[in-house]
Amino acid sequence: MSPCGFLRLLSSVHGPVSWWSDDPYQVIVEAVIVQNTAWENVLAVRRSLSGKLSPGWLSALSDEELHEAIRPCGFQKAKGACLRSLTAWFLENEDRVRCLETEQIRDELMLIRGVGRETADVILLYAFHWPVFVTDAYSRRILGRFGFSFSSDDMIRDYFEGSLGTQELGSLHWLILETGRTWCRKSPRCHQCPLASSCATGSAAQPNTRLG
Ligand code: SF4
Repeated sequence: MSPCGFLRLLSSVHGPVSWWSDDPYQVIVEAVIVQNTAWENVLAVRRSLSGKLSPGWLSALSDEELHEAIRPCGFQKAKGACLRSLTAWFLENEDRVRCLETEQIRDELMLIRGVGRETADVILLYAFHWPVFVTDAYSRRILGRFGFSFSSDDMIRDYFEGSLGTQELGSLHWLILETGRTWCRKSPRCHQCPLASSCATGSAAQPNTRLG
């Protein structure tokens, strides 16, 4: 299945996708606090910080205030420290980011404690609108079950980044997350999944209805 075909297929079952946020700093903060927690917890923090979140506001918080602000997402000390470093990086580099290569920004982000490849790519894609495919546990799992035979994350990235632009890659990451959260969990719910007839694992799980 082509990258465009896969995107169309996921879109057909989930409907239109909204972009993460128009505010790059909000994307950066949420890319950190979403680590190892459910998206619902991020939404709870988003609601409580609505109208307040900015680099200046966060920088002025004490550690205790910052930890309390992100408490629903857990790991407050580690995530708080990461947010402080990322906020400093953002304030220093926001205007310069557009002049740099993708790899240079990614390398700089990944020097910050708590920012791994996945978080860096989420920031590149949704905050700075670079055409990056975010590889994560959901994408590896779903693509593998669908029958794609990628042997590395680089192969996955090359396949999708070679055909899709920023908007499409952003939509695809959301659609993969939605699919993983709804049906393609660690224990897949193939019998409920509307993608089953197009998916290798789902097709194999369907009951054989032929007679004779
Ligand atoms: S059919 Fe099953 S394996 Fe395929 S995407 Fe749906 S839940 Fe995952």
